[in-house]
Amino acid sequence: MENKKVEIPVWAFEFHGHKCPAMPIGYRAGLTAMKQLGVEKASNKELYLFCENGPAHAAACFLDGVMAATGCTYGKGIAEKLNYGKNAIVLVDLKTKKAVRVSMRPEFFEKALNSEFVKLRKQKVEPKDIKPELVMPLIENVQQLDENVLFTVSEVFEKDVQLPKGTFEWHNCSVCNEIVFDNQSKIIDGKRVCIPCSEKQLTK
Ligand SMILES: [Zn+2]
Ligand SMILES: [Zn+2]
Repeated sequence: MENKKVEIPVWAFEFHGHKCPAMPIGYRAGLTAMKQLGVEKASNKELYLFCENGPAHAAACFLDGVMAATGCTYGKGIAEKLNYGKNAIVLVDLKTKKAVRVSMRPEFFEKALNSEFVKLRKQKVEPKDIKPELVMPLIENVQQLDENVLFTVSEVFEKDVQLPKGTFEWHNCSVCNEIVFDNQSKIIDGKRVCIPCSEKQLTK
């Protein structure tokens, strides 16, 4: 079987900040999920991402790759972290309400976690301080492996995600004067306040 090398754009590495294998794995997970759903990268809010990564663990860089591939970013409000401590995603097509789950195969993940790269990370060597001779072959490997070696891909299933309604309404906080959007402001004694100012007032 011919394995075509999947390009990981340079900007994705620049956005991520260093070269590591987990970000490219995430990038490929995003591509795999989009292919299964038959969708393109989200330019607006066409897709929604649930990422099962936790707050701090090996290979958590995965999420940056998923965001780069799918366009599901925190800034656009279409990404959510579930904190399960797993390298898996659920990608939802908001138009058709179809979803797919893509997870790293335990066999492949185990090999990655036993790599020299992760051993060095365990010894607190930062990714940018790990020699390119060691990192680049791992990235090449991720680019070349068949997606079925990397991932388990679910059947397409139904999933309804309701995005919160966006607001253009804003107020000046009556305490700090900073602008706060309507849906995140509070009214205390008839006055608009932002959340931090409301908390300060309560602890007074
Ligand atoms: Zn990384
Ligand atoms: Zn305030």
